[in-house]
Amino acid sequence: MKRIGFARIAQETNALSPVATTLRDFEASHYLEGDGLLAAVTAGREVAGLFRRVELAGFVAAARERRAEIEPVAIVSAWAPSGGPVSTACFETLEARLLDGVRRAHRQGGLDGMYLCLHGAMGVVGIADPESRLIRGVREILGGAPLVVSHDLHGNLTRARVEAADAIVAYQTNPHRDHARTGHKAGRIAIGAALGELRPEMAWRSLPLILGGGSTIDFLSPMRAVFRRARRAERREALAASVLMAHPWNSDPALGWSTAVVTDGDRAAAERLADELAELCWARRHHQPPEFASAGDAIADARRAWLRRKLGCVTIADASDVVTAGGPGDSTHLLRALLDGAGGMLTYCAIRDPQAVAAIWGRSPGARVALSVGGTLDPDSSPPLPIAGAIASKHDRRGFGRTVVLAVEHLRLVVTEGPAMAMRPAFYTDLGLSLWKADIVVVKNFFPFLLFFLPYNRKTLFVRTRGATDFHAAFGLAFDGPVHPRDAVDDWRPRDRARRGAP
Ligand SMILES: [Zn+2]
Repeated sequence: MKRIGFARIAQETNALSPVATTLRDFEASHYLEGDGLLAAVTAGREVAGLFRRVELAGFVAAARERRAEIEPVAIVSAWAPSGGPVSTACFETLEARLLDGVRRAHRQGGLDGMYLCLHGAMGVVGIADPESRLIRGVREILGGAPLVVSHDLHGNLTRARVEAADAIVAYQTNPHRDHARTGHKAGRIAIGAALGELRPEMAWRSLPLILGGGSTIDFLSPMRAVFRRARRAERREALAASVLMAHPWNSDPALGWSTAVVTDGDRAAAERLADELAELCWARRHHQPPEFASAGDAIADARRAWLRRKLGCVTIADASDVVTAGGPGDSTHLLRALLDGAGGMLTYCAIRDPQAVAAIWGRSPGARVALSVGGTLDPDSSPPLPIAGAIASKHDRRGFGRTVVLAVEHLRLVVTEGPAMAMRPAFYTDLGLSLWKADIVVVKNFFPFLLFFLPYNRKTLFVRTRGATDFHAAFGLAFDGPVHPRDAVDDWRPRDRARRGAP
């Protein structure tokens, strides 16, 4: 019987957000250890309230397929929503719990391998490339036993990570839909290597490219052909073929798109495929993300779309304050424009403001209140906005914290204590706000909402104001040289070789 450990420490960091991510954010969202973790994963409630079966469920399924030979050993799993940099103390606590857990499992029954699920775009105050430190720490305990790592498609590959892991695999979908499949793939590689059936060989490339590929959706042009090529490679010649499109607000000098290919014992094939995928990505660098409208133009557009509003709703995505990309969620720019310009259209929107929630939590539904909301977490991006309205309802929800719905003229404003993660219909419908009645619904998300809102959404508008998730704001971060599209880059290969330490 071979024992293979599994663990997760995952958060996606937006270096431009001033809202630090602390241990409380992990513990309030998802934190499990040992038997409790295995039970939750097995029961299909891996990340309670958010994900039923994701990477660890995929890994455990791979282990169950070989139940006579493989015992999965649960170590620890911690996940927090996207946000600002993780505090040093939080990181070191999670790191210690991970490494203590691995050490204990190794001492008690031995470990013949390990699967480590990391986001790949975690940033920590004062610690460069923190995820490589986690991989190296596990490697030191494991010795030569196989260590397989998975990343989100927005993760960043670095030389230190590649050198410490036997294999790194990433999602192949955006919006992400293959979490469990990715964990299963990682599991099969770790299991195969532990049983001596496979000999993973990994090759990778790193591109000085932070924005490209148009909408970056895997099933739409121009990225469709790239992900098809990766999937075809997995059917024929590779154990895993990954294309990582980077989180542009992740502060790492060696940030960029990357590719990683793992084969069974064929180094040359892995190199060839990683290179081919990198060329396919580079050829798509000039497809930049769409230009987004101003708030005023989007509201005028929504007003003209009266038939679509009647048949469903118009969805406006606040691209400058995308909570699922680490935005603070407290921007008032779009809210102010909706108050001023969307009169007569029933509009649902969300804002994070713990102080405002605390100030009115004691009041009863129906009470009239006047207060200012937003602009407190990230005061440099937007100012607080004074509003007056009535309390429609109050809720205490896991993940969002205490929540107050305010009726402010034609707006139904959802004020949250925790992250204002307006991405799924349930964010509003769980509060009694019917999407069939709304004219305009605001989301703070880039793409996944397009799938979730499919039954209701009749028109999508992206708005750019000013905030932590503006694409161009990422250009102000520090890089190890010129990066496309901020700078002119003729050839990706010299930087790739420098980042990999290749001759
Ligand atoms: Zn992602």
